[in-house]
Amino acid sequence: MINIILFGPPGSGKGTQAQILVDKYGLEHISTGDLFRYNLKHNTDLGKEARTYIDKGELVPDNVTINMLKQRVEESPEAEGFIFDGFPRTIAQAEALMKLMEVENTQINALIKLEVSREAIVERLLERGKTSGRSDDQNETTISKRIDVYLDETSPVFDYYQNLDKSYGVNGLGTIEEIANRLHAVIDHLYAIQRETIEKG
Ligand code: ADP
Repeated sequence: MINIILFGPPGSGKGTQAQILVDKYGLEHISTGDLFRYNLKHNTDLGKEARTYIDKGELVPDNVTINMLKQRVEESPEAEGFIFDGFPRTIAQAEALMKLMEVENTQINALIKLEVSREAIVERLLERGKTSGRSDDQNETTISKRIDVYLDETSPVFDYYQNLDKSYGVNGLGTIEEIANRLHAVIDHLYAIQRETIEKG
């Protein structure tokens, strides 16, 4: 089992790349952003609670997000591994994920960050906002707030996994295929490490 956190600022291409990884490695993709959007669309209690934060570009409170994530993981007991996208976004979420993985008798193998400049992100999100129907992509103030939140609250999560020797960075600029190939190189390396560990017993 291999569990990966796909990391990076909003608009760095996590969703696109996660889909390619699902097809190649048979991992299960869990995106907290997608889970929230599903709840917004169906106007569930969770959706109603999340909306106020999402529309302002703020993070949904940790307890809400962590419970939702736990439930989603528990729905897939047969998974061969997960790609976490948009989670963890705070140190508290990283700690909760660590505990959850322990309970499931597994672990996070790596965090891989897609590196993209602030200018490129704003441009990409405004472009996506034209077609995605996501209101949080159509407003430059909300976009700017999300980037600030990423820098203040989320980027320390990279250091958290770096202290465990599990953080990797990949250049997030280029064609979708070029970026996918960079991710494949890292993930193939993770599988190789895992095989070696198993062979050594
Ligand atoms: P982005 O495109 O900005 O990377 P997502 O699609 O992952 O964003 O998430 C959209 C919004 O949902 C975020 O701006 C935030 O309000 C909320 N959200 C998603 N994941 C989390 C999380 N792990 N913790 C708190 N809030 C979250």
